[in-house]
Amino acid sequence: MAKIQMTTPLVEMDGDEMTRIIWKWIKEILITPYIDLKTDYYDLGLVHRNETDDQVTIDSANAALKYGVAVKCATITPNAQRVEEYKLKEMWKSPNGTIRAIMDGTVFRKPILVKGITPYIPTWTKPITIARHAYGDIYKNTELKVQKGAKAELVVTNPDGTETRALINDFKNSDGIVQGVHNLDNSIASFARACFNYALDAKETLWFASKDTISKIYDHRFKDIFAEIYENEYRQKFEKAGIEYFYTLIDDVVARVIRSEGGFIWACKNYDGDVMSDMLATAFGSLGLMTSVLVSPDGKYEYEAAHGTVTRHYYNYLKGEKTSTNPIATIFAWSGALRKRGELDNIPALCDYADKLERASIKTMEEGIMDKNLAAMSKLPEKRVVDTETFLNEINSRLEKMMAG
Ligand code: NAP
Ligand code: MG
Repeated sequence: MAKIQMTTPLVEMDGDEMTRIIWKWIKEILITPYIDLKTDYYDLGLVHRNETDDQVTIDSANAALKYGVAVKCATITPNAQRVEEYKLKEMWKSPNGTIRAIMDGTVFRKPILVKGITPYIPTWTKPITIARHAYGDIYKNTELKVQKGAKAELVVTNPDGTETRALINDFKNSDGIVQGVHNLDNSIASFARACFNYALDAKETLWFASKDTISKIYDHRFKDIFAEIYENEYRQKFEKAGIEYFYTLIDDVVARVIRSEGGFIWACKNYDGDVMSDMLATAFGSLGLMTSVLVSPDGKYEYEAAHGTVTRHYYNYLKGEKTSTNPIATIFAWSGALRKRGELDNIPALCDYADKLERASIKTMEEGIMDKNLAAMSKLPEKRVVDTETFLNEINSRLEKMMAG
């Protein structure tokens, strides 16, 4: 069988630990036998980030902007212990944070649903995708402790030098605390466009919520920017695609999400997204089945797994043990990126391959072949716990048949 040819390279961002090992296996076992893989390769492993003073991360993000599609392996975000372990020159920043800032992107997380792995909410029969605005609010706050007898005011120095003041609180009877937060119209607009584009791409309805009844200027600004961009740029496209944009209050949306059957995108302000994405990931079941894609406001994509480098498994691997690590979210990062490349370059065979790779992966799990953590959650009557390489080979034996037929 002739291998599928690519025209534009895929930006490949390699990573760390167990996921770096799995990355190589996925390419060897599931991709290069079928595709004449063309990538623009960046090694984001911590050793190489340290050697290049993290320049490689910046270069890889710029390449993603240039070519439009990237696939990323999980990477270590160093802490003090990692600085010691890897003898780092500095405690380098989170690569995901750096890439997100350069791409001005929004992260969408979507679970893979598999028969036999039931979400904690039984009515969720379709995935719920969550998007988190990753700029500002309490994550870029300024906060102070305040003494009894103090008065706190909000002061804005205007471009003409005049001041606008508003009282926050008179701390007459007690010590207290005060916090200043901000956001940017530009950032909110980029977030809105990324969400609208993603919804059109996925052909799913978009929900957005804030607390505009209480926060009549701050949260209301989010609501207004979304509404304005929707009316001016997206309403017609949404109507044509048969999907909706729908705004409500955050507490209302939480109730609706729980009662829903899934199948929509939930856009969240920064804090809501931080909390709710963990809630959804837990309720859907497994980190090994959570995909993630970073989308820029002008439609550039970076696909990855939501989980980390699975350090504990890596240390076992280094001791020569066979690990049972779930490769599925990383496989879906590759299939997502290859499908997008196929769509942009008009290579139907590449999209067809991506579909089959995903179907073969799901079929393998639905036939009871899975990693140890997934098996512990699965309600299938017959299960076979396999090591990572066997898992990949089992997927390939199904993929081979699909590709041949
Ligand atoms: P993690 O790598 O996601 O692993 C946490 C635990 O979840 C694992 O020990 C394992 O549980 C389970 N798990 C996660 N993915 C799995 C998979 N594919 N198959 C089977 N089990 C899986 O998170 P972490 O241990 O907090 O972080 C490890 C490193 O990853 C850190 O250095 C962190 O900076 C980095 N990280 C990177 C990203 C990213 O690049 N996007 C995201 C998060 C974390 P058991 O041990 O019980 O089997
Ligand atoms: Mg969180």
